[in-house]
Amino acid sequence: MKDAYRILIVGGGAAGLTVAARLLAEDPSLDVGIVEPSDKHYYQPIWTLVGAGVFDREISERDEADFIPDGADWIRDRVDALDADARRVTLSSGATVSYEYLVLCPGIQIDWHKIDGLTDTLGKNGVTSNYSYDIVPYTWEVLQSVRSGRAIFTSTPTPLKCGGAPQKIMYLAADHLRRTGALGRTEVMFANPGTMVFGVEYFAKTLRKVIARYGIDFRLHTELVAVRGPEQKATFRVTDPATGARTEQTVDFDMLHVVPHQSAPDFIKRSAVANADGWIDVKRETLQHVRYPEIFGLGDASSVPVAKTGAAVRKQAPVVAANLLQVMREGSLRHPELYDGYTSCPLVTGYGKLVLAEFDWDNRPMPSFPFDTSQERYSMYALKCYVLPDLYWHGMLRGRV
Ligand SMILES: Cc1cc2nc3c(=O)[nH]c(=O)nc-3n(C[C@H](O)[C@H](O)[C@H](O)COP(=O)(O)OP(=O)(O)OC[C@H]3O[C@@H](n4cnc5c(N)ncnc54)[C@H](O)[C@@H]3O)c2cc1C
Repeated sequence: MKDAYRILIVGGGAAGLTVAARLLAEDPSLDVGIVEPSDKHYYQPIWTLVGAGVFDREISERDEADFIPDGADWIRDRVDALDADARRVTLSSGATVSYEYLVLCPGIQIDWHKIDGLTDTLGKNGVTSNYSYDIVPYTWEVLQSVRSGRAIFTSTPTPLKCGGAPQKIMYLAADHLRRTGALGRTEVMFANPGTMVFGVEYFAKTLRKVIARYGIDFRLHTELVAVRGPEQKATFRVTDPATGARTEQTVDFDMLHVVPHQSAPDFIKRSAVANADGWIDVKRETLQHVRYPEIFGLGDASSVPVAKTGAAVRKQAPVVAANLLQVMREGSLRHPELYDGYTSCPLVTGYGKLVLAEFDWDNRPMPSFPFDTSQERYSMYALKCYVLPDLYWHGMLRGRV
């Protein structure tokens, strides 16, 4: 590790590795450092299927070292502070690293502690979450144990990675309970603090049919605020949409799948690069920072107003690589590459069934296939299970697609 790099990338996740691969493919002589604390890299989209028992969690895990592109230095540490005016980061070890150009993509921070009692009971008492590699196998374990009672699935009032993930595991769980004959004896409840089933009506119409098919008690304006694990009780804050009045309801559960609060990483929130909500403040089409032209930001930690997904990262990464190289070579961004706001959410609606929601930041459908992907299809389920993981490991992270 050196104490200065021409290009420093913070976060060696989906976005950081893809941008690094693209930059070095374009110019192998570039001086690139990647700050990434984890020695493992995770393909998180498959965790939905791990929680439903389709795959073991190990298929989502690879060695980070295998994906650091040749020519890049891996700095195995965490950024604790960013001084954008001094063009310098401070690492957990206390060391500082300077840069000429900075790519920020440290992902989203999971704030488990924001739900009262959750950290004490997560991974036991039937309380689980697909938002953690450590906990996700417990989702399948609990689901297999449900014979009757109530299975509750929640969403969060904060921005989240993969907005569809809270519902996908619920549909798979309901389908599993249907197959075991337990669905009739089990109330499946969805507690969503939001105001609608899904932001894009073109896909929401199918989801409403799926919800009816499984007989799901789908509650809007309902936020999980506390869990008492040993007693298996969950407390929700319910907001009356007409008056704004809030009440609390406590219900029993046999299974509780929690989607935690999420936010920008703390070091971003504390830095000058954050917008008022804490996200890396970038121009949504060029992904260049609004105040620091030498900084680019993408992925879950960015302010780009689009559902936070790996699919969005796949389209953002080439834009960042091209625009950064242009700024380095020409001194400014006169002919920028533009991100078009594409994102995608493969909405698994049961075993062998998937609605492929592809849309943009204005919630306009952006289909990649010449057929109606708002219908449940086995072909799209197979795409998620067997095609997209390979595309990720061998294409996207290598800077090829
Ligand atoms: C359950 C679940 C289901 C999902 N399903 C889908 C799906 O079906 N389709 C889809 O497209 N997307 C899906 N996603 C979302 C997708 O995984 C993310 O949107 C994507 O990984 C974002 O890429 P990123 O690089 O911004 O963040 P990440 O891939 O999370 O990478 C961030 C990296 O930054 C590192 N980091 C964090 N803090 C620091 C720091 N201080 N200093 C240095 N490095 C740091 C982390 O260790 C991590 O490696 C899902 C996610 C989950 C959890």
